[in-house]
Order: sequence, then structure tokens, then C-alpha cells
Amino acid sequence: MATKSLVIRVEIDQAKHSHDCQANNRHRIKMGDSRLKVRNGRSWDHYCIACAVTIVQRDLGKLHHLERQLDL
Ligand SMILES: [Zn+2]
Repeated sequence: MATKSLVIRVEIDQAKHSHDCQANNRHRIKMGDSRLKVRNGRSWDHYCIACAVTIVQRDLGKLHHLERQLDL
């Protein structure tokens, strides 16, 4: 049986073109910048590193809370 995951498909890659961060259109991701890629349906959402840190920290908080509820 495959191991299930709560973490949806995510990757870090480098932007091939400049574009806006999808969490905040005032954040510009420049060509060559690292960015967080998150699967969204058939496509990907891309976030700048500042937003990626916020997203990861928020989700870690959620997972820690869940872990405590499981009383491990
Ligand atoms: Zn951003």
C-alpha cells in the first residue's frame, strides 16, 4: 500500500522568465530567481521565496497542531 501524504506536490525551481508572485502581485520574481512551485489542478502556482517561507511555516504549524491532536 502506498504511503499517503498530506503534503501536495511542491518543488523549488528557478524562474525561466520574470513574473509576479501569485500570493502578492507586488512581489516580482526575476528570471533565474528560486521560487516555490505548488501543484494546482493541472497547472502550477509560483511563489516568491518570502511568501514560500510564510507558507511553509504556516503549514508546519498546522502539522504540529495535528501531531499533538494525535497524541504521539
Ligand atoms: Zn511573494
